[in-house]
Amino acid sequence: MILLKIGPSMDKKIFIGVGSNMGQSYKNCVMAIKKISSDRRAYLRSISSFYQTSPISAIEQNDFINCAIEIDWMGTPQELLQFLNEIESSMGRVRSEKNGPRVIDLDILLYGNRVINEDSLTVPHKELHRRRFAIMPCLEIDPHLTLTKPLATFLGETGDDQKITKLEGIGFDEGE
Ligand code: ADP
Ligand code: MG
Repeated sequence: MILLKIGPSMDKKIFIGVGSNMGQSYKNCVMAIKKISSDRRAYLRSISSFYQTSPISAIEQNDFINCAIEIDWMGTPQELLQFLNEIESSMGRVRSEKNGPRVIDLDILLYGNRVINEDSLTVPHKELHRRRFAIMPCLEIDPHLTLTKPLATFLGETGDDQKITKLEGIGFDEGE
C-alpha cells in the first residue's frame, strides 16, 4: 500500500508591502526582505523598485522608503501575519501612535484571491485601494492585479497629493 502524505500547498500571488521611515530606511527594507526570503515557508518571486514617499499622516516625520514583494507561502495567512509581525518586532518595531514613524512595516496587501475579514487580519489590506505608495509597486510587479476592478483604476481616485518618487538605480541588489 502506498501512503501519500498530503501536506499544505503553497499559496501563490501574495503581495507584501514593505515600508520604513526610521533609521536607515532603505537598509531596513532590504533586511526585512532578506528575513522573509530566508524562511523555508517563503519563496520570493519578485521585488518592485524602491520608492521614496512623503508620509500620508499629519504627524511630522521623515519620508518613507516603500516597495512591494511577491511571494509564495507555505502556511496559512494567519501564520504569515504572525511571521511578519515577528520580523517587525525583531527589527525594533514598537507600536505607538497610529500612522506614526516606524522602523519597518510589513503589510499583507493581497493574498491571491482570498478575502479575509478577521479582527487581526483584513485581506485585501483595507487601505490598499487608497494608498498609491502601495498600489504603484504592486502594479510594477503585476500590471493586471484586480480588486473589485483593475487595481490601476484606483490610482486616479486616491485624491491625495502624496509625493512618490521611484528611486532609479537603487534596488534590492544594491543593499548587499
Ligand atoms: P498600518 O500598517 O495600518 O499602519 P500597523 O502596522 O500598526 O498599521 O498594523 C496594525 C494591525 O493591523 C496589526 O497588528 C495586524 O493585526 C492588523 N492587520 C490587519 N490586516 C492586516 C494586513 N493585511 N496586513 C498586516 N497587518 C494587518
Ligand atoms: Mg502594518
